[in-house]
Amino acid sequence: MEHKTTFLPQEFLAQARDGKNLNAQDIHAFINGIKTGATSPAQIGAFVMAVRLSGLGKNNIVDLTCALRDSGDVLRWDLDGPVVDKHSTGGVGDNVSLILAPILAALGAYVPMISGAGLGHTGGTLDKLSSIQGYKIDADNHVFKNVVTNIGCAIIGQTDALAPADKVLYATRSATAAVDSIALITASILSKKLAEGLDALVLDIKSGNGAMMQTKTEAEELASSLVEVARGAGVKTSALITDMNQPLASAAGNSLEVINALNLLKSESHDLRLKDVTLKLCAKLLADCELAVDEQQGYEKAKTVLENGMAAEKFAQMVSALGGPNNILENDTCLPKANIVQDIKAEKSGVIKTIDTRSIGMAVIVLGGGRKKPDDKIDYSTGFDNLAELGTKINQGDILARIHAADKDTAFEASKMLRASYIIENGEK
Ligand code: URA
Repeated sequence: MEHKTTFLPQEFLAQARDGKNLNAQDIHAFINGIKTGATSPAQIGAFVMAVRLSGLGKNNIVDLTCALRDSGDVLRWDLDGPVVDKHSTGGVGDNVSLILAPILAALGAYVPMISGAGLGHTGGTLDKLSSIQGYKIDADNHVFKNVVTNIGCAIIGQTDALAPADKVLYATRSATAAVDSIALITASILSKKLAEGLDALVLDIKSGNGAMMQTKTEAEELASSLVEVARGAGVKTSALITDMNQPLASAAGNSLEVINALNLLKSESHDLRLKDVTLKLCAKLLADCELAVDEQQGYEKAKTVLENGMAAEKFAQMVSALGGPNNILENDTCLPKANIVQDIKAEKSGVIKTIDTRSIGMAVIVLGGGRKKPDDKIDYSTGFDNLAELGTKINQGDILARIHAADKDTAFEASKMLRASYIIENGEK
């Protein structure tokens, strides 16, 4: 964007500090300066703190989102169907993307999904896919575009060319206690999603003890900010607030969540909450991009291709096209298996009243299935499956979960954490 008058960053920062409405061109000049070096690290730090403390009006969040998006490549598509995607704010056992993308592809939509690695106690789609031997999460733009065009969906990681200014802003926020700002979270998430060149986007805002937003009120605030800003940037957008007071799938851990998703794609799963959330998100997108007349029809269409195996076929094609095995539906030997697999049993009888979901995510990290430091290597084979659900009546000795661990010590520690995460009430010892 051409800038008409002389841009003075200190004047711009004074306005941001005082919570004034900012000029869109100034925001673009400031963000552009991150790339060229005209904006100094001190000024970036001052900006994120000003926004964290004084907020940003909705129109300015749209301006910031677009400036961050335009700091790198923005994908352009010329396809015979709508280009759509989903973003989840993350949780434990959230493997929806692995099921949703192929469902939508099977229905004629195109899904260029750029995903992230695990963050804190939450798992990341990228780490899950990395557990598949050969799968290239770092495919280049050419391969990515080909796979999306020919198969209908591709899930890869963020390249350096996508919203690079957000990377700098995000790192600065991390280092300056300015992460928890709805305005900055909104612009950060959407800049990357909008760089995919979407026609429609659905947001899965998790709420509960395993989510970034712990309460419904916080989740609603983030959802409405994301929806308003994404629409302001010209993309049809809907949001669902979904429960994260227990793991969504009955598995948590990388290869275990891929196996869990494969089971649902092959109609060999009893994970009804996971199936329902996935179908509801598909339904919103299908209605928004007019591949269904309304959400109800979208839900039925999505259910049909999930249950008749067409979505499973799309998933297998995507895996193969991105370097994984050719037969993942028939043979899961491409997924690593842990040395120790054992049941974790309830120590008392009663009903499962509360599950500390965050702590289950932390137990996966103890097992090596998540990172303690950003460059830690992950053991993709570890985690839990057969996780019992909230409300289940349980007898002493019944199975709460099955643990997959690399060694006895981590198995012992993570089993203890898992047992402590399950609050069983009204039971006799
Ligand atoms: N994910 C992002 O990409 N950015 C944020 O600020 C928070 C979550």
